[in-house]
Amino acid sequence: MDRDKILLTPGPLTTTLRTKLAMLRDWGSWDSDFNAVTASVRASLLRIIHGQDSHVVVPLQGSGTFSVEAAVATLVPRDGHVLVLDNGAYCKRAARLTTLMGRRCTVLGFDEAAQVDPAVVEQHLKSDPSVTHVVMIHCETGAGVLNPLQAVSDVCAAHGKGLIVDAMSSFGALEIDARTTRFDALIAASGKCLEGVPGMGFVFIRKAILDGCAGNSQSLAMDLHDQYVYMEKTTQWRFTPPTHVVVALHEAIAQFEAEGGQSARLARYTSNYQTLVGGMAKLGFKPFLDPAIQAPIIVTFHAPADARYSFKTFYNAARSRGFILYPGKLTQIETFRVGCIGAIGPDEMEQAVHAMALALQDVGITSAAPA
Ligand SMILES: *Cc1c(COP(=O)(O)O)cnc(C)c1O
Repeated sequence: MDRDKILLTPGPLTTTLRTKLAMLRDWGSWDSDFNAVTASVRASLLRIIHGQDSHVVVPLQGSGTFSVEAAVATLVPRDGHVLVLDNGAYCKRAARLTTLMGRRCTVLGFDEAAQVDPAVVEQHLKSDPSVTHVVMIHCETGAGVLNPLQAVSDVCAAHGKGLIVDAMSSFGALEIDARTTRFDALIAASGKCLEGVPGMGFVFIRKAILDGCAGNSQSLAMDLHDQYVYMEKTTQWRFTPPTHVVVALHEAIAQFEAEGGQSARLARYTSNYQTLVGGMAKLGFKPFLDPAIQAPIIVTFHAPADARYSFKTFYNAARSRGFILYPGKLTQIETFRVGCIGAIGPDEMEQAVHAMALALQDVGITSAAPA
């Protein structure tokens, strides 16, 4: 069998052989063996954020966006008012799903090359007391910006607002501590920094608000309160679970713990990031963001100014050498993205840089410097 291509994307990610092998079995969704796996995954997830005392975790079938949508629908009453802090594509998606579910939604815009500003959030909350919930993306995967979770959490707590955090691309890699950072819900998924396969999300919900969520959701399948109550009562998922995804996540979490947990994962991703950015600089590539606000998760690079560059050709040339890149997601300027996450290390990143160097050579580009 050919070696799989290395996925330098924000998910799905490259997984280990051990994680893939965990999927080679059949599981009964009602069977106690499988229910024990679900319980173990849920307990491990809570430990990662030190949330055993303060939060519950509710898994949900589907991609990560399903869980964001479910969290908003479950937490926000139908007459609630959501303030979405917008500095990128995933924030715009959160605003759209909030509106589609019939919740009043206000978007507070920031530059996509900057962090969300907690002082501006505070100003807005003072000027509009009707806001009930704030939605923030922890790592805005669109450009790769790390947003200030603690500061925004402090502002929300001070003003008595519920905070819903999309931590999809940061959970497991960046530190999130429920004992010191207050949030009503925090969302992540199987196929990101835990290095499982895609197919389920999970939402941490603060125990103190859980009972009040009953009946908020207008959806049957996406009602996290209902999923929680059913799971507590029966140990089972409400509807057919993604059994193979759950057992793969269980195996991925065992490897996450053996590696040394969140701090070890951050250290590996940081060295992937440094290897990438250092190697790309030698080719002339320039990152889009100020390094001070860049998360070591995914890096946006400016497209080379050389007229011989096209993303499609560059992508195909890197692909033929075994590396899958990711298109840019910025509205104004041409960029592309390279993920630093997944079951890969600095050696693979060095090979990836080499593949991109050869991709430039193919078309005779000697410097990848942007305009
Ligand atoms: C990956 C991601 C999601 C979920 O995307 P899906 O395609 O639904 O899995 C949501 N928010 C952020 C910030 C992400 O990086």
